[in-house]
Amino acid sequence: MAEITIDTIQSCGVVGAGGAGFPTHVKLRAAAEVIILNAAECEPLLHKDKEMLREFPDQVIAGLERARQLVGAKEAVIGIKYKYHDVIELLTPKLPATMRIAELADSYPTGDEFILVYDVTGRVIPPGRIPLAVGAVVTNVETAYNIAQGVPVTHKFLTVAGAVRDPVTIGVPVGTSFREAIELAGGATVDKPAALVGGVMMGRLCTSFDEPITKTTGGLIVLPDDHMLIARYRKDWPTISRVGASACDQCSFCTELCPRYLLGHPIEPHKAMRSLVYSQTGEASTLGTLFCCECNLCTMISCPEDLDPKSVCGQNKRRLMSEGRKWEVDAVEARPRLHLDNRRVPLQRLLAKLGLADFVNKGPMLKRPYQPRRVHLPLKQHVGAPALPVVRSGDQVTAGDVVARPSEGQLGAVIHASITGTVSLAKDAITIEA
Ligand code: SF4
Ligand code: SF4
Repeated sequence: MAEITIDTIQSCGVVGAGGAGFPTHVKLRAAAEVIILNAAECEPLLHKDKEMLREFPDQVIAGLERARQLVGAKEAVIGIKYKYHDVIELLTPKLPATMRIAELADSYPTGDEFILVYDVTGRVIPPGRIPLAVGAVVTNVETAYNIAQGVPVTHKFLTVAGAVRDPVTIGVPVGTSFREAIELAGGATVDKPAALVGGVMMGRLCTSFDEPITKTTGGLIVLPDDHMLIARYRKDWPTISRVGASACDQCSFCTELCPRYLLGHPIEPHKAMRSLVYSQTGEASTLGTLFCCECNLCTMISCPEDLDPKSVCGQNKRRLMSEGRKWEVDAVEARPRLHLDNRRVPLQRLLAKLGLADFVNKGPMLKRPYQPRRVHLPLKQHVGAPALPVVRSGDQVTAGDVVARPSEGQLGAVIHASITGTVSLAKDAITIEA
């Protein structure tokens, strides 16, 4: 098989499969000392990464090793929770000399890049910077798998869990609908289901079960429509800011448990909450909100008043960014605080607090292939500009054909047909009907 190069990765449309979808060919052009595989998977009820490691250990290791060579790193480290003994035992004898495993705590947010890099290397990424600032590149399990495949990315793996008959991890053509994914998990077990996309802590509310699975969809958590998590995600900003301004007692628990504050970053969510008193929109908020990773711990776990400091920080962060505001912080200032290790939130506690303890916490890989009749491929499934269609309505395409690509010189990723069929174009998506 031909060697995988940066050009292969680019032409295959590989993007970060676990986050915002940063194009992998751009990330791997960097030079780093260490490359870290993020297999921490700390979002409650998600199991996709460890299921992929169980099912495709050789491919993931091969992809990670190739990525290590491309960035010129001395070593590659697989960061995985210590409790997955079987996966660790499976991987260990297969590792090349350049690779090792770092066993991580069973807590949240272990998979946050900043926490992961600190746990693996002992280095703190300075506020507002990326892992490369301390010589590290972080990649995702499915991304490494896709690198090793050396073929166009046409399929996506995700866990479907929560209020479904058989929680499961599936690998389906990109563009398959959430509705079909839920059917593959045996269907919803509640009369009026709702869902969170990507995870209960850092995900978003599903707007319709007809939404398509994209290259970055890592999970779908189905819940009863009246579940407290769904109610929380439905709260609007005027309510969040009005209640926050009147009810926050400035206990500062949100700051004391904030993982970025504990890493030594200058973020103090209780001060952002205080700012609501002076401006109903939170506009007087501190610049420190720029460093919020929106992990949601402050809202879901810390606050005794059931307020939403995460949304206040997130709202302010986006406003400050849109205004081009920056706060350059010296790396020396970022030193972990004394209580970092004592204030990690155990997963079991998180599951209980979020009202998820009664759901099955497993997602075995479904090995049966699934072929949808129709797929919808959004033109923006990655960081950067939307891709531009290179097909027209009525064209016949075969799975793996290029259907859209970024314009010359723009950050983005190629999109391929995930099934064979007839194309129809819409403003921001391509539909293929088998
Ligand atoms: S969401 Fe809250 S806990 Fe998480 S980084 Fe932001 S302020 Fe800190
Ligand atoms: S934990 Fe809640 S009540 Fe306490 S300072 Fe933070 S937002 Fe206010």
